[in-house]
Amino acid sequence: MEDCDGILHPKAVEGLKLFNEKKFFETHEELETAWRDEPGKVRELYQGILQAAVTCLHVTRGNYDGALKVYERSMRWLRNWPDVCRGIDVEKLRNDLEAVILEVRKLGRERILEFDTSLFKDVTWNEKRIWICDRCGARMHEKNCKVSCPNCGNRFDCSDLNIYFD
Ligand SMILES: [Zn+2]
Repeated sequence: MEDCDGILHPKAVEGLKLFNEKKFFETHEELETAWRDEPGKVRELYQGILQAAVTCLHVTRGNYDGALKVYERSMRWLRNWPDVCRGIDVEKLRNDLEAVILEVRKLGRERILEFDTSLFKDVTWNEKRIWICDRCGARMHEKNCKVSCPNCGNRFDCSDLNIYFD
């Protein structure tokens, strides 16, 4: 799916980081911005992750019906993407979320607050970087950390520049 080839919206990256800090409300805020900004189909992926965060938020607040309802909604958005899209491991997210919901169902409405939050797993992704040539302004190619300019031949090793990405 060609929508999966691009890079992630910066607010989506912020959202994923917050998701992994289990700050689900804040995740929702960032992804909502990414969703609103994004004109392409990938906005539906952002919507799915947003709903996944809301599912987890409901679980932490003991809202059994809300968790199940938003989980279904989330899967509707997440279901049709390839296993990896824009560097995000969507398949892992789907499986992790399913495990959360299985446990929620097992606990039931009465005991949902006993949910073991270690079952909230991290979303994993590879952040693609955009390299712009400092000599000619062209978009550069990256392969295994070797970055080269197709226009002027400028090249460097991305590990030389790690200081800029801390
Ligand atoms: Zn160049």
